Amino acid sequence: MPIEDVAAEALRLLEHRGLLRDLRTVSSATDCWVDLGGRRTLLLCSNNYLGLANHPTLVAAAADAAARWGVGAGASRLISGSLALHHQLETEIASWKRAEAAVLFNSGYHANVGTIAALVGEGDAIFSDALNHASIIDGCRLSRARVVVYPHNDVNALESELARVPARHRLIVTDSVFSMDGDMAPLREICELAERYDAWVMVDEAHATGVLGPTGAGLVEQLGLHERVAVQMGTLGKALGCFGAFVAARRDVVRLLVNRARSLVFTTALPPPVVGAALAAVRLVRAEPERRARLQANAQALHAALRRMGAPVPAAPSHILPVVLGNEARTMECSARLLERGVWVQGIRPPTVPPGTARLRATVMATHSEDDLRFAASAFASVFCEEAHERS
Ligand code: PMP
Repeated sequence: MPIEDVAAEALRLLEHRGLLRDLRTVSSATDCWVDLGGRRTLLLCSNNYLGLANHPTLVAAAADAAARWGVGAGASRLISGSLALHHQLETEIASWKRAEAAVLFNSGYHANVGTIAALVGEGDAIFSDALNHASIIDGCRLSRARVVVYPHNDVNALESELARVPARHRLIVTDSVFSMDGDMAPLREICELAERYDAWVMVDEAHATGVLGPTGAGLVEQLGLHERVAVQMGTLGKALGCFGAFVAARRDVVRLLVNRARSLVFTTALPPPVVGAALAAVRLVRAEPERRARLQANAQALHAALRRMGAPVPAAPSHILPVVLGNEARTMECSARLLERGVWVQGIRPPTVPPGTARLRATVMATHSEDDLRFAASAFASVFCEEAHERS
């Protein structure tokens, strides 16, 4: 059968199940408002939480780095691509994370698959939260270790599994802020269990980096757990507004990753403009806590508005606000109706979230104004009202 026929059939099946996805084209820089299909649209679904992706300081740092270092690293880190600029960013990140060392990866996806598979293997066990990000799931699969999935944030279940499953080495891995739910892992309890059951803890701070903790280093910083978390992973493409990721850990753990993480060894190093911009972003985030304060205030404001209109949102506010509608078609319909009203909130369906939990994933930015959030809230109210009217 020709490959295009197989592809067409697979696409038909996805469409039939309401799971077909397509790319949308944004015709402006990533900011609070974007040009979507020629229309000015309020962006309420990016991970650019602090509004740094188009910040003049970062744009200038990228241009300066391009002028000094060129646009490409030319090879992988272990061949000839390890520039002083990469090392400078790693030193800055290690100090920020209060870790002995740090190493860059080309994305969070690369970091998770490479790190997990480098640290554990056959004969070992990984204890992974049921709602962990896909890149963690893929890293677990690649590692060939035994994978034990525990129910979301359930420390009692985690403890039973740790007591039950024998292994040479044990790795507990969890998102710190969960990407599609916005809630936080019980990291202190997880560290206690790890110490009791001789396990290592790896934390994915993709959605907490730049957002939580006194200097924005993440939930590990907020809870003072840097001595107890063996592997702190974070990304540069979300709140930091750039691209790439890192792992901060003990010196020898980082050296082992440089030797063994295939997603680091076998790929071209991050391009200098990205590294230069990320260095500027880390410095800015460390120095300017007011951005985090504004993000929290905005998260609270939108959360309160959605609660007031009876939207199905969690009890606690977060910069990631899931409005879980359950049904995929209804979710995509609501997303389309919000877009008609000038508000872009992407609908999230399986396999990104478990079946039956399709949702609108609204994310606020520190740079959204009060007017922006009022505009968003009124669009939500109007869509929910229209829906209720149609169903009655
Ligand atoms: N971990 C988590 C929790 C994420 O949400 C994401 C991205 N959505 C990643 C890792 C992957 O990061 P990146 O986009 O840098 O590949």
